[in-house]
Amino acid sequence: MSALMKTDPEIAQSILREEEREKNKIILIASENYTSQAVLEAQGSIFSNKYAEGYPAKRFYEGCEFVDQAESLAIERAKTLFKAEHCNVQPLSGTIANLAVYLSVLKPGDRILGMNLSHGGHLSHGASASFTGRIFESFHYGVSRDTYLIDYDEVRDMARKLSPRIIVTGASSYSRTIDFKRFRDIADEVGALLMADIAHIAGLVAADAHPSPVPYADFVTTTTHKTLRGPRGAFILCKKEYASKIDSTVFPGLQGGPFMNIIAAKAVCFREAQNGQFKQYGQQIVKNAQALCDALKGKGYEIVTGTTDNHLFLVDLTNRGLTGRDAARALDKAGITLNKNVIPFDTQSPYVTSGIRIGTPIVTTRGMKEDAMQTIAGWIDLILSNSSDETLQKKTAAEVREFCRAYPIRPVISSGE
Ligand code: PLP
Repeated sequence: MSALMKTDPEIAQSILREEEREKNKIILIASENYTSQAVLEAQGSIFSNKYAEGYPAKRFYEGCEFVDQAESLAIERAKTLFKAEHCNVQPLSGTIANLAVYLSVLKPGDRILGMNLSHGGHLSHGASASFTGRIFESFHYGVSRDTYLIDYDEVRDMARKLSPRIIVTGASSYSRTIDFKRFRDIADEVGALLMADIAHIAGLVAADAHPSPVPYADFVTTTTHKTLRGPRGAFILCKKEYASKIDSTVFPGLQGGPFMNIIAAKAVCFREAQNGQFKQYGQQIVKNAQALCDALKGKGYEIVTGTTDNHLFLVDLTNRGLTGRDAARALDKAGITLNKNVIPFDTQSPYVTSGIRIGTPIVTTRGMKEDAMQTIAGWIDLILSNSSDETLQKKTAAEVREFCRAYPIRPVISSGE
């Protein structure tokens, strides 16, 4: 960063401090990951200079021959990785990808049936605070009060009653396998389209650690920066029949010039995910989540749904007399960063919450295994059992820093097949 240091030392310093934070803390935020050096290099490349409105070989600018190569590679790799008929790699974010699907096939006022935000859904699934909930008439299914599992009977009953134009499956804080076929059957029964938002689990799907929705959903959307371990961004997979509609909604409908540096970095991420090593990574994320979940359960923590099938789980802190906000703050001071999270049927506000969300994509990227999860569970328990002990927090932060030295922050990727 020598040029940046010279031109803008304040920004350079903030980046360096962030790097120290990423090195010295244990990050358990389920939606984050540490990308490879190769992804960072593509992302920070001169492709950032290029305007390329349009699509490969159909641009509104000259000089696109090299960015065309990068975008075509990204598209083909994503199609191969997820066995999809069509892919658009231009959406700048998961929210925009979801909006692009809705605007491709819905008219304002049409009905969306998505997962309740407070039960694990995402804002862009029709929540009232999001324009997806204002432009369209949105309804929400949730989880069962007894099991905290998706209540598929409720989904079917609501779909029959409401006849939504589209059903949205996918979540931000649901720890169990989603039955995409069951959603397809419900959509077919009521003549609805089906969109699967796999933003959180895309890396697991790519690694065969979670079933794929591609055979069942008309549209699959995802971000690239969570378990998939790519740059910040998103893409849309769909059946061929929707290809031109999706493409024209993304550009010129919703976006202008695509971020070609990010698209190149997406191509790198897809290549890395095709490597056999990534399959092991995806499987290890789940093993680590299960190990951490079991260890905390063994210490008396209440796990929402009792266990996890994927990269994350929610801890209900009600029986500990702690809010999610206070728990997350105490843990961060002790070098363990995660986020407060509402639990289904939470009585606390989203700013306070009764729960925390724990995810293992980053610790797995750093090469930690099940034994490390036992150590982390011990620290979490120690801090949450003494949540106002600042001396203990400082002492633990120093231990965490020492522990982290054994684990690199960039994934080591073999050049692989
Ligand atoms: N969909 C799901 C399920 C998510 O969890 C998220 C982000 O957390 C998004 C979409 C939105 O992604 P972005 O933050 O890129 O808009």
